Amino acid sequence: AIPVITIDGPGGSGKGTIAGLLAAKLGWNLLDSGALYRLLAFAAQNHGVDLTNEESLKTLAAHLDVQFLADSGNREQRIILEGEEVTRAIRTESMGTGASQVASIPVVREALLQRQHAFREAPGLVADGRDMGTVVFTDADLKIFLTASPHIRAERRHKQLLEKGEAANLASLLDEILARDERDMSRSVAPLRPADDAIVLDSTSLSIEEVLEKVLTEARK
Ligand code: C5P
Repeated sequence: AIPVITIDGPGGSGKGTIAGLLAAKLGWNLLDSGALYRLLAFAAQNHGVDLTNEESLKTLAAHLDVQFLADSGNREQRIILEGEEVTRAIRTESMGTGASQVASIPVVREALLQRQHAFREAPGLVADGRDMGTVVFTDADLKIFLTASPHIRAERRHKQLLEKGEAANLASLLDEILARDERDMSRSVAPLRPADDAIVLDSTSLSIEEVLEKVLTEARK
């Protein structure tokens, strides 16, 4: 089987950054599964679909017209939805909250399963999300669960937003992170938790380089 490394964890734990660097280092494909839920929330807004309308969301999820373009020289991939670039537009806290709402709907998760499996192409895949190791790629070769304290995650998001020249408020970011954690951990379908065979890494006091080194050490075992 084509090898898979899963990196799950809460928002702001650094898993997106680590997954991108790891994929680049190994020359493997990358699945940013959170982007799929964000894209769905974004498409729903575009098409005037209410985030509680499960049937319409399911249909929208099954037909999402999206392309992920690897951007060499830049570790962020470009994301095109229905022909328009939405790379930045889906990164807002409001789309994060919308994503977490649509992600709690079982038929939506099911509709996105096939699409996620399709990313498993040679020579390998690094999959980033919440349920990569517990649901989508249960047979992964290595499962990492990356955590960090809510406070440091809020600080990282805050820094990221400021770097992009966007408005950001630390206290409200922390509130949003705690609310999203709560929703992601308490939902009945694919709740956020480490797989039984996952290696749990706490990145609170580690740099990106240190986390990457630890993951690479595990990958070489
Ligand atoms: O990782 P990101 O912040 O982009 O994820 C947005 C939301 O999508 C998460 O809060 C979570 O509710 C949902 N998600 C999920 N399963 C995944 C990835 C993301 O439920 N595999």
